[in-house]
Amino acid sequence: MAPAGTSAKTVPLLGIDIGGTKISVCLGNNKGTIRKAKRIPVADIANSYTDGLNAIIKLCKDLLKSENIASSELAAIGISAPGPLDTRRGLLLAPTNLKRWGHAPIVADLQRHFQCPTRMQNDANACALAEFRFGCGRRVQNLVYLTVSTGMGGGIICNGSLVKGDTDTAGEVGHMVLNPDGPPCACGQKGCFEAYCGGLSVARRVQLKIVEEKIHTAILDKAGGAVDNIAFPAILEALREGDHLAREVWEEFIMRLAQGIGIIIMTLNPEMIVLGTIAIHADDLLMIPLQECLQRFAWTAPHRACRIVTSQLGTSIGDYSALAVAMDSDHESILIMA
Ligand SMILES: [Zn+2]
Repeated sequence: MAPAGTSAKTVPLLGIDIGGTKISVCLGNNKGTIRKAKRIPVADIANSYTDGLNAIIKLCKDLLKSENIASSELAAIGISAPGPLDTRRGLLLAPTNLKRWGHAPIVADLQRHFQCPTRMQNDANACALAEFRFGCGRRVQNLVYLTVSTGMGGGIICNGSLVKGDTDTAGEVGHMVLNPDGPPCACGQKGCFEAYCGGLSVARRVQLKIVEEKIHTAILDKAGGAVDNIAFPAILEALREGDHLAREVWEEFIMRLAQGIGIIIMTLNPEMIVLGTIAIHADDLLMIPLQECLQRFAWTAPHRACRIVTSQLGTSIGDYSALAVAMDSDHESILIMA
């Protein structure tokens, strides 16, 4: 069989997107059509890998049955999962929301059950593949995807292939250190790109500043008056109303975002950088000052050559990501089948 995605023929694929709060299983194809998707809450299956695997297999079988597709017709299964993971051996390595699963051999188990190629990537790499296959990167060969969400993840497509690196950490741009004396990062370093631009980290710094300096700000009003409720949307809302603290926070956010993106442009010279969540919500509030600020961090030629856009795949990006991983026959796990 030709590898999934290289053939002009439409072939069925299963995609499994393991998210923070839910697992979505979808049945689609290599042309980017999602025929049907089903979801289960992570909390229902977080206690046991065996229960989780059985629940995922059941969802897959239900989808195949409802669309009258035999497992033997499946071209591949793709899994988009939170890190850490070992894609060479096809293992989930106890991600934060599924700690009790331990080192889960999900790739081998699904491959054995459905007897078809099964592939896995971390969620940011999977998003890069989704933009490359089905999103705004369909006509480019060199792109970088940046999640810009609660955290800051990245995925790199270079000459039409996902870059994984030697230990699966290529694209972890969220932990490039922008300032060694900067704010602490969840990874243990200081001054990471994520510590400056991850939504969770920005919100925590704003919370602290409001409490310590007793600042009156519209950000607090937008969060319903409770400092613990402050998240990125409240900062954006206050920014649109011209709030002083929101503007201060935003200026630093844009400067550090430009610094991080500038390093990516100067290192990889990509044709396109696709930005996720926060950039989608902020739109022109972000793009116009970001482009201006980038002049400080990247040479004109590679900066001009790089289109910086927001993701167009919307809330279905997780399903598209998993389907795109199914098509990524460049990266197979080395499985020891029982
Ligand atoms: Zn870090």
